[in-house]
Amino acid sequence: MGFVITVDGPAGAGKSSVTRRISKRLGIRYMDTGAIYRAIAYILDQKGIAPVENEELARAVASIGLRIEAEGIFVDGTNVTEAIRSYRIDRIVSGYAALKTVRGALLDLQREQAKHGDLIADGRDTGTVVFPNADLKFFLTASPEARAERRYKELLKKGEAVVYKEVLAQIHERDRTDSSREVAPLREPAGAIHVDTSLMTENEVVNELAFIIQNRMR
Ligand code: C5P
Repeated sequence: MGFVITVDGPAGAGKSSVTRRISKRLGIRYMDTGAIYRAIAYILDQKGIAPVENEELARAVASIGLRIEAEGIFVDGTNVTEAIRSYRIDRIVSGYAALKTVRGALLDLQREQAKHGDLIADGRDTGTVVFPNADLKFFLTASPEARAERRYKELLKKGEAVVYKEVLAQIHERDRTDSSREVAPLREPAGAIHVDTSLMTENEVVNELAFIIQNRMR
């Protein structure tokens, strides 16, 4: 196992963009665990399987072939990297991510990624459940308004017809579902470095985290 860094936090705190850039800058492999949950939600939704624990869901989850490649994330051979970023997936993903069957099936896949050298992973439970013994843990957060503003701009850029108020409501809803679920709820890991990004630019966050990581990896 290499040096493992975890970055957890609520939706829209900037985890993915920041973590991806740090990964490139420092040459550390990146695992976007949100993308893994999104991919599962995407395929189950396409198959018309509701986010409830039952036989049908268990069978479907067990049969999904998920692969993480340099080019993106693949489900049953199809590259779904772009498709999983839609507003529809934003709205439905937490329902699937709350299910024990779904989380259990993804645990090994995530741990497997740390076996091939240094890794930086971002998500909701990477520092608490997936890698409780990670070498360095961050908790990235920001006010719900700042997070909604970022997500809103991102979706507009993609040409999605969204309303700011709805995006904010959806951020609140996702916070509630992610923090109140029974299995692996969103929690700040003990010993994590807490970074509030509300008033920081993306560059500032990247620089701060990269600086800390480089010092600790030395
Ligand atoms: O980070 P992102 O917004 O892409 O994550 C999408 C959703 O996946 C989250 O709202 C959460 O419900 C779920 N998730 C999770 N555990 C993780 C990563 C993501 O439950 N480690």
